[in-house]
Amino acid sequence: MVEFKGLINTDSLVKTLGEDRVKLNEPLSRHTSLKIGGPAELFFETRDSGDLIKAVRLARSFGVPVTVIGGGSNVLVSDQGLRGLVVKNAGGEVKIRRMKFFGFHRDKVIPIEARWMGTEEGTQKYDFHDLNYDESSFPEIEVSIDSGVNLQVAMFKLFDEGITGLQWYARIPGTVGGAVYNNIHGGSHILSEIIKEVVVLDNHGGVKKIPAKNMEFGYDKSRIHETGEVILEVVLKLKKGEVEKAKGVAEEWRKRKASQPFNSAGCVFKNIPEEDASILGYPTTSTGYIIEHILNMTGYKVGGAMISPDHHNFIVNTGGATAKDFLAVMDEIQRRAKEAIGLELEDEIIRLGDFNY
Ligand SMILES: Cc1cc2nc3c(=O)[nH]c(=O)nc-3n(C[C@H](O)[C@H](O)[C@H](O)COP(=O)(O)OP(=O)(O)OC[C@H]3O[C@@H](n4cnc5c(N)ncnc54)[C@H](O)[C@@H]3O)c2cc1C
Repeated sequence: MVEFKGLINTDSLVKTLGEDRVKLNEPLSRHTSLKIGGPAELFFETRDSGDLIKAVRLARSFGVPVTVIGGGSNVLVSDQGLRGLVVKNAGGEVKIRRMKFFGFHRDKVIPIEARWMGTEEGTQKYDFHDLNYDESSFPEIEVSIDSGVNLQVAMFKLFDEGITGLQWYARIPGTVGGAVYNNIHGGSHILSEIIKEVVVLDNHGGVKKIPAKNMEFGYDKSRIHETGEVILEVVLKLKKGEVEKAKGVAEEWRKRKASQPFNSAGCVFKNIPEEDASILGYPTTSTGYIIEHILNMTGYKVGGAMISPDHHNFIVNTGGATAKDFLAVMDEIQRRAKEAIGLELEDEIIRLGDFNY
């Protein structure tokens, strides 16, 4: 296994963060849904957003490169691992703003402990349009959620408080920070629809509020891809909606998405634009459809990395896959898409580390 041997002077950082809390050469395969990834030179797991701020500021002050991950459910980490400090962001609070208690407006704070994703089995393919409904007439409520909070836990805690609006994102693994970073989509919904502002740690260590309109949100995109700011918290505009209905939608979503395997990093490529789908005469913009029915790549495999037969835009680790295997499958899909139909498929997953080996 690759191991880092103190090429960067990290001793002071380890002492300040606490020798009992920093792991050396921690395999990142333990912290990604794909179970792929070499070691983190230094690894620190947060318990709340105070830990996150402290770790990032300290690493920067010691000149140690820092990478923040959440659930590791959207990343391909290099077999060579990552230099410097990897901060695994977990835990935090959900704050329900402006709830009325005895005539006063006061925030309600729900602490959420660091938690990890489980696995589920299922067979149904997913479809979602029939589950859409309009919540716009319900009263709005602002909720701020720390970036380390697990998205699914937040959704269920908010249902308990009579708050809806996250049901479209049922069964999407990972943290709220990861969800904001890539502006996740759930069917025809996209997270930025309900984001009011994002609180970040900027590159000088300052805490800054960014209104949604300045976040440069797009499909699988936010400004954080370019700026490298660290997401601390997001303020969402949710609804005092119909909880039972929202729970029903979340449950149905969960069932339909059950065919999406957890030993993956979600969809590997972005779906194609509507315009391209219509020019090509395809019934859907789904890249999974193209890989399955146009490129006929069912079962294509390199080493332990295989195109999932359940959802062809997912590449799964069938056991022992390396990042190199995974990339070889991606490269072949891209090559065939280009050759057969002239399509340039774009990555949806995020690559972390050096892949030139
Ligand atoms: C079975 C399955 C189903 C999925 N379904 C969907 C789906 O329906 N829709 C969808 O959009 N995605 C889906 N995904 C992808 C993934 O779950 C989401 O993108 C998720 O939001 C990633 O969150 P994470 O915490 O795991 O992020 P990670 O994978 O840990 O990180 C992703 C990126 O975000 C950055 N990042 C994470 N936290 C922070 C932070 N606090 N500050 C700055 N940068 C940060 C990381 O550096 C990395 O570049 C699916 C994945 C799986 C495995």
